[in-house]
Amino acid sequence: MKYFLAIIGGGPAGYTAAEIASKAGKDVVIFEQTALGGTCLNVGCIPTKTLLYSAKQYYNATHSDKYGVKAESVTFDYTKIVQRKTKVVRKLVAGIKQKLNNEHCTTVMGAASIVSRTDEQVVIACGEEQYEAENLLICTGSTNFVPPIPGIKDNPAVWDSTDALDTKELPQSMIIVGGGVIGMEFATLYHELGVPVTVIEAMPTILPNLDQEVVTILLEKYRKAGIQILTDTKVTEIQGNKVLTTNGEYEAEHILVSVGRRANMQGLEALTDLEMYRGGIVVDEFMKTNLQNVYAAGDVTGKIMLAHVASRQAEVAVGRMLKQLPLQRIAYNAIPSVVYTNPEIACIGLTEKDLNDIREGDFAPTMSLDKPFVEYEVHQLPMTYSGRFVAENEGETGLCKVIVDKKNKTIIGVHMIGNPCSEFVAAASFAVRMGYTVGEFKQVVFPHPTVGEVLRETIMEA
Ligand code: NAD
Repeated sequence: MKYFLAIIGGGPAGYTAAEIASKAGKDVVIFEQTALGGTCLNVGCIPTKTLLYSAKQYYNATHSDKYGVKAESVTFDYTKIVQRKTKVVRKLVAGIKQKLNNEHCTTVMGAASIVSRTDEQVVIACGEEQYEAENLLICTGSTNFVPPIPGIKDNPAVWDSTDALDTKELPQSMIIVGGGVIGMEFATLYHELGVPVTVIEAMPTILPNLDQEVVTILLEKYRKAGIQILTDTKVTEIQGNKVLTTNGEYEAEHILVSVGRRANMQGLEALTDLEMYRGGIVVDEFMKTNLQNVYAAGDVTGKIMLAHVASRQAEVAVGRMLKQLPLQRIAYNAIPSVVYTNPEIACIGLTEKDLNDIREGDFAPTMSLDKPFVEYEVHQLPMTYSGRFVAENEGETGLCKVIVDKKNKTIIGVHMIGNPCSEFVAAASFAVRMGYTVGEFKQVVFPHPTVGEVLRETIMEA
């Protein structure tokens, strides 16, 4: 049998593509070597958020006094926390299996590799079998990057994020190398469960790609709470549990290294002419590679490594293969992102730094900023403008910052810190994606009392 589409990788990009194409009546084969759901469901977004939720429950219980609630002798059982995480993952993976359970979709568990490719067909091997398809979608994702630091390899004290999620016992103390998204989420988890944490970041600031006013609020809170955060600090060597840096030596039971991820290219070696850029597969605006009938979606494209970007890229790719008109594109200028620290950070669109970099012509070509420099204005309010926020966030301030194109008054960026901003950043996604002006946004009614009202209040100031 010749399939319409072969998909390598069963993460958010792969399973989304398989579901859409098979439901459109096209025969699809999807290969997954580990577990359906990919990094996001198995060793990424979902397990971390599940562990973080338990940590937040414990933290809130031990800090409930400020709300007039006394909770004495609060304890936690880490084994049970990890067991629950495993149960949540299993449930969601089963949901993906269910979604792909239709007459047009064949799921093959195993490592796939390309045997040959012409413009008419791709031949893929998996185990003893070979499969033929008209189109190929590469969704092989990414894995944790291991930096070339002496003493890192085969060191049992060193973990990556997958090791950290798997362990059944909480470490006594933790050093986290890399103050990016993974690093700061794990710093939150361990800190809230009472583990002493040190974060070592090479850049002058943690979360360097985010709005720095927002980041400063987190940084100040975390430092005050006792998390040691070293910036501008490079790790020169790791000796057992000891981390040697340009800023002194630090020791902990475990060292989590989270300094970025790299595209997975195993099994694709036969595609010798595939165009690559900085380790990612180059795709056009419809997710097509330079090879006729070969598409790529998700982390392997090296664009924005987020599950919701991967699934949107998959929608665009399948739409293009099915020639669904009008052809869809992905709007990279309107991708929301969330960092699950406590408080949460949620943002969308351009930062002031992005705009200034564009003005200077000083931005990475991978940034996909499809806007020229525009004169902008910034409007901001503390989260405490929302009554609901004040009621539920004793002692916190938070920030909501909106960036507006000065000339046409469209909303081009929103950057927030304060719980639960992850839940209403989607309202900002609508605004940025649809190119709303502040005048249009002001006509949208938000329910009261909600924390999301702060977004509307900030835009009312514009
Ligand atoms: P990242 O790029 O977000 O952060 C890596 C950090 O490590 C950077 O701040 C960098 O300056 C620092 N760094 C690099 N080399 C270093 C060194 N030798 N010593 C000290 N610091 C060093 O990468 P990540 O945190 O590993 O996350 C990987 C990907 O997964 C990202 O694309 C991220 O967006 C995604 N992710 C997203 C979420 C979410 O959406 N909530 C959660 C986890 C991961």
